[in-house]
Amino acid sequence: MRAKIDPPAAETVNPDGKSPYVLLCEHASNYIPARYRGLGLDKSELERHIAWDIGVAPIARDLSKALDAPLVLSGYSRLLIDCNRPVGVATAIPEISESTRIPGNTGLSAEERQLRADAFYWPFQRAVARILDRRQAAKMQTIVFGVHSFTPVFKGVERPWHAGILFRKAQAFGQALVAALQEPGLNVVANEPYRIEDDGDQTVPVHGEARGLDAVLIEIRQDLIGHRDGQIAWAKRLAPALQAAADARAKA
Ligand SMILES: [Zn+2]
Repeated sequence: MRAKIDPPAAETVNPDGKSPYVLLCEHASNYIPARYRGLGLDKSELERHIAWDIGVAPIARDLSKALDAPLVLSGYSRLLIDCNRPVGVATAIPEISESTRIPGNTGLSAEERQLRADAFYWPFQRAVARILDRRQAAKMQTIVFGVHSFTPVFKGVERPWHAGILFRKAQAFGQALVAALQEPGLNVVANEPYRIEDDGDQTVPVHGEARGLDAVLIEIRQDLIGHRDGQIAWAKRLAPALQAAADARAKA
């Protein structure tokens, strides 16, 4: 078998982009280095949502181009360590994800936890901080925007929303973006399928709120973006809505 070269922990695209948006994709990849042997999971499990957010990386790249926005993508599976969790919480390296036990995450030593954080977590956080530091020093208007996807069915319950905009302190901006995304037949709502929490989120509380920046996430239902056509359609829908919401905010 051909040896694979492991990707960088964080990939930065268009760091000097002029858009007000800084795009983040913490769950872009399901890549797990060979030495982890898939954390003991079957290949089919690693294609599932527990390993990554299906469909989001291509949308984030399309948006980066369309908006001229910086974008940071994580290079590794959230199952190794989740870049959108505080580093110390139990769910950062989940022993169980949804109802799947992760054998390779069971009974880890403190050293292994530290190693994973150093290899796969902090490089992403630093890459984001570098961009935000530079923009804040230059007094550039900045909005943090995370791109995510969610499963159509969770614990047996169907989720009716096509997408949710998640926010906490950025109330005005979050609501403006929800409004900009309304169209007939499309179900886009605020703060579903989950709420931003300090112990369950990193991007909004740390990269956004702690810096005094507006920060929101979008969660798009996976069945809509599991194929390229859907990804293109969502990027085309999101780019003008994001632009409109940013323009309105600049005037406010
Ligand atoms: Zn996600």
